[in-house]
Amino acid sequence: MPTCKECKQFFPMEENPAQGDCVQRVVDPRQAYYKAKPVMGDMDASSCSSFQKK
Ligand code: SF4
Repeated sequence: MPTCKECKQFFPMEENPAQGDCVQRVVDPRQAYYKAKPVMGDMDASSCSSFQKK
């Protein structure tokens, strides 16, 4: 099972590497921006459509 910590878009927190931010680049017709949300490193990524292996 792939997990968030194996994903390119997972950025671990310095104080607690088990936790991190999922940072995704979002491109819509007018602009591109980054969207971040807190995730756990061991979260199941098999259902995530944005998963990218490191
Ligand atoms: S939620 Fe998806 S895109 Fe974000 S870190 Fe986890 S697997 Fe990667």
